[in-house]
Amino acid sequence: MKAAPAPSTTLAFPAPERSRSPARSPPPRSARSPATQTSSRSCSAARAASFGRTTRVFPPHIRKALTARDQGCAFPACTIPAPWCEAHHITYWSHGGTTSTENGTLLCSHHHHLIHKEQWTIQVKAGVPWFIPPPHIDPRQKPQRNRYFRLE
Ligand SMILES: [Zn+2]
Repeated sequence: MKAAPAPSTTLAFPAPERSRSPARSPPPRSARSPATQTSSRSCSAARAASFGRTTRVFPPHIRKALTARDQGCAFPACTIPAPWCEAHHITYWSHGGTTSTENGTLLCSHHHHLIHKEQWTIQVKAGVPWFIPPPHIDPRQKPQRNRYFRLE
């Protein structure tokens, strides 16, 4: 059995008697308002740094924020500049991580693969990504950070 059309679809358009009035023309435009709301929301400063779970790919404005913060591969002692880096989800997307500056960092391809292969942990403290090695690399798991791009 086929479902009946949703009643809200018919409510978005004026009844035939009302369509003669020019004032009733705008309702079809308001049906498109969610797209307008989305674009105005994405431009707001409050939402500029987060796409949450909407997209896995880091959009350009979040990539720019990560570039401004990390300036290059954030892995300790790496010197690869930002244009050659990939954006990495600190809490993996597959584990529910969001696409945001708080959950992102720049890594060169080599260190991006290393992070996934060797099970490093990353924590952002005061805007600085810190890398905690797995026990088989450093039994003390002393946090490290990149000091090539940012001394402080
Ligand atoms: Zn690197």
